[in-house]
Amino acid sequence: MAKIFYDKDADLSALKNETVAVLGFGSQGHAHAMSLKDSGVDVIVGLRKGSKSWKKAEAYGIPVYTVAEAAKRGSVVMVLLPDELQAEIYAKEIAPGLEAGNMLMFAHGFAIHFHQIVAPKGVDVSLVAPKGPGHIVRREFEAGRGVPGLVAVHKDETGKAEARALAYAKGIGCTRAGVFETSFREETETDLFGEQAVLCGGVTSLMKAGFDTLVEAGYQPEMAYFECINEMKLIVDLIYEGGMTLMRHSISNTAEYGDYITQGKLVTDETKKAMKGILEDIQSGRFARDWILENRAGRPSFYAMRQNARNSQNEAVGAQLRSMMSWLKSDIEIEE
Ligand code: NDP
Ligand code: MG
Ligand code: MG
Repeated sequence: MAKIFYDKDADLSALKNETVAVLGFGSQGHAHAMSLKDSGVDVIVGLRKGSKSWKKAEAYGIPVYTVAEAAKRGSVVMVLLPDELQAEIYAKEIAPGLEAGNMLMFAHGFAIHFHQIVAPKGVDVSLVAPKGPGHIVRREFEAGRGVPGLVAVHKDETGKAEARALAYAKGIGCTRAGVFETSFREETETDLFGEQAVLCGGVTSLMKAGFDTLVEAGYQPEMAYFECINEMKLIVDLIYEGGMTLMRHSISNTAEYGDYITQGKLVTDETKKAMKGILEDIQSGRFARDWILENRAGRPSFYAMRQNARNSQNEAVGAQLRSMMSWLKSDIEIEE
């Protein structure tokens, strides 16, 4: 059984004599920095000059410095920068500011587990990862509740790594809900597997295959889009709220019967074998190597695949249908 830490297992005084430098003020960064401040922790933020977030953090009363300066001033340094940039920023701006007794922290294990960042001797390395997007982490904290989280210690040089990591988790509200003990390896590998095999790669390829099957059989693409893509949200929301049992309770009996008789027809032993292959590529570091090299090469495959995906028929049909749904006006700017 998993070990779970709650408020009573964590003591904020482990951060009493520390300055926590939160690097980044994006989804996770703003939630961590603001909640740590509200918890009475001495917190500063590190950003690049010209960052949109600089004023936002200062307006909340949090001192903001460049990443290098914040890393130097902080004794606990939480890296909440984009994962694919962490190694480069670490080498240039973070490492020079670390000294023995400090703790380097992450919310995702990729850079440490795959050896893109190797902390110097005397420096603790730990992870605190809320299991939710930053705005929910912040919203729940403000409501006096918390989002469940993960905690892991990769390197304990001071004997204080776990106490400091748990204090951090308490400072952002996670121990109110419960924090699961894990390792950098487990967090990294399960995260990558989940997004590839199920959440992102799995779901989108299932939707697309269903859409294409109906369109190739002569049905109208709009009908195919509604049935195979758009309605996924209704089903997932029910599972999120009450598991597959609530979802199956809410759908029609016909849909529930169709659900059962499809089990084993679509996701077969072959599919499970493919999933094992995906997991092996993650465990062996092959996926990590390819993604790191892809970034070094300027992401040629990434951008080609992105263009192809954006140009697919289902995306054009989806855009047309969404324009008829007045409540769906996304204000998120999509980069090229
Ligand atoms: P975001 O992309 O939301 O935020 C990144 C931050 O880094 C921004 O404040 C951005 O500021 C800043 N930044 C970007 N480039 C640079 C640079 N070159 N120098 C200095 N600052 C820079 O990231 P997330 O919060 O989503 O992710 C942070 C970490 O948290 C990752 O490790 C991720 O895996 C992890 N995580 C994320 C979760 C989530 O729900 N999003 C959940 C759990 C973990 P600006 O661009 O304004 O300069
Ligand atoms: Mg991920
Ligand atoms: Mg239907």
